Amino acid sequence: MTSINRYLPPKTLNDLLKVLVSSKSLLIIGRSVNLLPIYGLKLGNGPVKVLMWSQMHGNESTTTRAIIRIIEDLKSGKPSLMLNHLSLFIIPQLNPDGAATYTRFNANGVDLNRDAVNLTQPESIALRGVFDEFKPHFCFNLHGQRTIFAAGKKGQPSVLSFLSPAVNSEGSITKSRLKAMQIIVAIKNNLSTSIKNQIGRYDDSFNINCVGDLFTSLGAPTVLFEAGHYPMDYDRDVTLNFVQDAIMSGLNVIAKEDYIKFNADEYLQIPENSKDYIDIIVHGVTIHDGNETLSNQSLALQYEEVLDNNRILFQPKCLTYGRNLDLIGHQTFLISDLNIPDSIEFKTGKIIEIF
Ligand SMILES: [Zn+2]
Repeated sequence: MTSINRYLPPKTLNDLLKVLVSSKSLLIIGRSVNLLPIYGLKLGNGPVKVLMWSQMHGNESTTTRAIIRIIEDLKSGKPSLMLNHLSLFIIPQLNPDGAATYTRFNANGVDLNRDAVNLTQPESIALRGVFDEFKPHFCFNLHGQRTIFAAGKKGQPSVLSFLSPAVNSEGSITKSRLKAMQIIVAIKNNLSTSIKNQIGRYDDSFNINCVGDLFTSLGAPTVLFEAGHYPMDYDRDVTLNFVQDAIMSGLNVIAKEDYIKFNADEYLQIPENSKDYIDIIVHGVTIHDGNETLSNQSLALQYEEVLDNNRILFQPKCLTYGRNLDLIGHQTFLISDLNIPDSIEFKTGKIIEIF
C-alpha cells in the first residue's frame, strides 16, 4: 500500500503557500538545521492573537494540509468576520528537514517537542522567538498520531485527540489550562456527531520540555490537536476534513469568546487514548520462534511508513504473536486467505509481504 498524500515536502508546501499569499506576507522566522527557511504568515487584524504551528514532527502532515485549506478559505474572504476578531500567526511546517525526509525528528535527530526549555535546535528557537514577539493569547499545537489509539479502553479508533497540557506534575488546573479545556469541549460539541465516539484525550503527564506544557505555563492556553486514524483511511483524507473542522471550530469559539460557556469538567469525561489497535492481525498462523513451533497463533503486524520515491510505503512488520492477542486489528485475515506461507519464522520487525 502506498500514499502520496502523506508526504508533504517543503518545496511542495512552499509552492502552495506562494500561490496563496504574496511573497511579502511570507515571513522567514528562522532556518532549519539544513538551512531550509521556516515560514510564518499573519492573517487578520483582530485584538485576540492565536499562534499555531504544524509539523514540528516532520511525518505528521495532515494538520499542515488542513492549515493550507484554512488559509485558502480565509484568503477567499468567507469567514472574514473571524479575522476582524483574531490575528493569526501560522507556522505551517516548523520542521522542514523532518518533512523532507518523512521523520519525526529534525536533522539532528532531536524531537522538537522535547526541546521547549533547552532550545538546543534552530527550529525550537524560531518558534520561541515568534511566541515572545507575537505574545499570543492562545496557541494551537498541531500534530498527527499513529493508528494504535482507541478512544477509551477498547473503544473506537481515535480519529481526533486533544490535550490541554499540564502545567505541573500535580496536574493543577490554572486559568490558562481551564481555557484550553473549555475550547476542547467546545470543539468536541461542535464536531460532527458521526465521530463523537472517536475523539480521545491525550495523556497529560507533565513535561516542561513539551512546548504545550511550557506555553500554557507561561499563560497562553495551548490546545494540542492530534489528527488520528479513521478506519482504512491511511491517506488521512477523511481525517483531514475532521481536523480542518476542528481547527476552524476552535478559532470560531475563540473569536466569539463562546468557549466560556462550556464546562471544563466535560473535558475530563473525554475518554483517554488507549493503545489497543494494530494495523493487521493474521489468524491461524504456525510460528517458528527459535526452537519452538506453535500452531494456530495470531500474528500482529504494524505498518512501518517508509519514504520511497516521493511516496510513502506502508510495510507490514511483525510485532508479536499469541493465541489471544489483547489487540484489535484494523484489518484481520485468516492466513489461508492470504498468498503467503502458513508457517512463519517469527522475527521482530520482519516484513511480511501480504498484499
Ligand atoms: Zn507530533
